Amino acid sequence: MSDQSINQLDTTPVVLLIDDSQFVHRILDARLRSESISLIGEHDGKAGHERALKDEPSLILLDLDMPVMDGYETLRVLKDDPKTRDIPVIVLSGMDSSQDKVAVFDLGAVDFITKPFEITELRARVRSSLKLSALLKMLAQKAQIDGLSGLFNRVYFDDRLQEEYDRAVRHGHPLSISMIDLDHFKSVNDTYGHPAGDTVISGVAQIIQQQCRSIDIACRYGGEEFVMIMPETTPEQAKILCDRIRQSCEAVSWSQHPSRAVTLSCGVVGADNGEGLTCTPAAMLEMADRNLYEAKQSGRNRVKATDIGGTLIQIAKAG
Ligand SMILES: [Mg+2]
Repeated sequence: MSDQSINQLDTTPVVLLIDDSQFVHRILDARLRSESISLIGEHDGKAGHERALKDEPSLILLDLDMPVMDGYETLRVLKDDPKTRDIPVIVLSGMDSSQDKVAVFDLGAVDFITKPFEITELRARVRSSLKLSALLKMLAQKAQIDGLSGLFNRVYFDDRLQEEYDRAVRHGHPLSISMIDLDHFKSVNDTYGHPAGDTVISGVAQIIQQQCRSIDIACRYGGEEFVMIMPETTPEQAKILCDRIRQSCEAVSWSQHPSRAVTLSCGVVGADNGEGLTCTPAAMLEMADRNLYEAKQSGRNRVKATDIGGTLIQIAKAG
């Protein structure tokens, strides 16, 4: 599956310690060794934030009293950055007034441990924060996954399209998207029943997944409709990829209806260079939809691709 795959939960959680005291690093390293975590460390807030961006820890242990950038400021930076915002932070501090505690909870810390810490308590709190963050991550991932196909859902697609669009414009990179719709799908449901229809949906999703490269983002858009975001991909390359999906789908022999093949139509649109992305992501999607409609109109089981300027690349079709 792609790099967005949902298998992060099985890996050993990484815990990042940000503390200016070498002593604290040594003691936590020794005392948390028995836990199934991988402890990494930084000695100041700025390096800590950079490390969090790089290593995406499951939990951060943060000292409040540090020179240059103190724990409050570090917490603010971590919570302001969308990339680190959701990482739970436990504050470690020698200051233990209610005011200090309220301030760090207000800034978004999940827990507060007073130094010198009682190691059993620290371990228990680390464990419970990790458990909570794993559950939250799982829920967040489930909310992005379509249950039947196992692909990403429409909500995820909308977010990612905007993100990839912005990235392509910023760097002047190519970007293509496609919209795929199964041909005469209703008749599969009507003739062979809904379970057979569901098998087709998940089977086609599997084909799309297999043909996709790790950078592609495949989603179920609804019903028998799928959408793909293909970063770093010209419309010409996207057309080739989508035509491979079309051919693979056509070649499948479905066990519930071996004599009835399933075909799909596809509309592709994209730009060779992000600077050519002159329309909004929503307009891009509309263009892909229009191409899909035209692929259907001209006989189905084909891919119609254009670049964003409206130039027809080629209509790939069966036979
Ligand atoms: Mg300190």
